[in-house]
Amino acid sequence: MKRQVLHTINLKNVSRVTVLNYIRHHGKSTRANLSNVTGLTFMAIKNILEELEDLGLVQQSDELEGKIGRKAANYIINKDYAYTIGIHINMFLTRVALMNLDGEILEAVRIPMNREHMETSQFMDDLCNAVEKVISKSKIPQEKILGIGIGTPGPIDVEKGTVLNPPNFRLFRYFPLREVLQTRLNLPVLLNKDTNAIAMGEFWRGAASGTLYESIIYVDADMGIGSGMITDGQLQIGANSAAGEFGHVTIDFDGPVCNCGSRGCLEAISSGLSILRQVKEIAPSKRQALKLEGKHEVDQLTDIFAAAAAGDAEIISIINKAALNMGEALGSLVNLLDPELVVLGGMLVYEYEPFYAIAKDAAENKCLRVSKDIQMARGKLRYKAGVIGAGEIVADTFFSKTVNDLLSKEKE
Ligand SMILES: [Zn+2]
Repeated sequence: MKRQVLHTINLKNVSRVTVLNYIRHHGKSTRANLSNVTGLTFMAIKNILEELEDLGLVQQSDELEGKIGRKAANYIINKDYAYTIGIHINMFLTRVALMNLDGEILEAVRIPMNREHMETSQFMDDLCNAVEKVISKSKIPQEKILGIGIGTPGPIDVEKGTVLNPPNFRLFRYFPLREVLQTRLNLPVLLNKDTNAIAMGEFWRGAASGTLYESIIYVDADMGIGSGMITDGQLQIGANSAAGEFGHVTIDFDGPVCNCGSRGCLEAISSGLSILRQVKEIAPSKRQALKLEGKHEVDQLTDIFAAAAAGDAEIISIINKAALNMGEALGSLVNLLDPELVVLGGMLVYEYEPFYAIAKDAAENKCLRVSKDIQMARGKLRYKAGVIGAGEIVADTFFSKTVNDLLSKEKE
């Protein structure tokens, strides 16, 4: 029987992408270092860099490597070769930004989401206006923009570009977001889950940037809980673009009902929404004392954190228990996947100082590895990780696929 060839692998293309991605992840590299880390010969690296330099994608930096003797040239990405647009849709605030290929934001617009009864059509108008605004303000010609990356609350269908039925986000119901934006803005659009976009932001430009870590897990402790996994520099979305629903791992069969309809999910126990519910149920007097009524959920949570910071023991115990449960679940995740780095981010980490340390401690107690020290970091880009990561997803597609097309076109 003839063996079916599923994928044709062009080794030269693999090498080019490896070189480009190494420079992207580390910011700069010498030829000798590239040869060292990729295992490719010095000559092969020299040839690849020459090709990429001819194309204008890579350039030599003014900064030379080495202190004594002959200094070596450092290669960097030409960050102004092209640009990307990132969109991070969030239940509280949507961010739109135009970035260069180093993930540096050149122009940004914020769309507040706490207006009551917001209609999908109104939101789409605001979103398109925001994209047009960042382009016109930047004065960058549209043909230099590679495309638009979106991070949105899931579940989504990546292939169809459709947002399905997010439990915590009612604005989209089986909505063909990619199609609508592509038609209105005349730019390619890539749709991803919000936590995947955040993970890409932290990988390329945040907590894992400049490190040797190639496989990380990002966990988002925010109003909801989600995660994003990157293995060998590749985003893992799963067979049905549904991977990363860490918030819906059951940790207590008899626990509270979750937004997904199931009982005792991590999200029903450790998320911002769960902390809000617990403060209202376990400590109903706080509801009036903190004047939570009528406020947006994010503002309610901010007030609850302020009360904790001011020493409210009842509230502190609710949040600390949420952090402890989060840590236990993180420990299980580490036992399952043994990642190089775990990045914990989101509102609970950024707004409540002890959350991270409590979660890390609990995760390490749960960890079965010989070394109990889990490589763990707080999110570095904080609330900008999603918008930067959404742009990085577009850049990533460009560097992994389009560059090779450009090079083969040159040779024709
Ligand atoms: Zn759930």
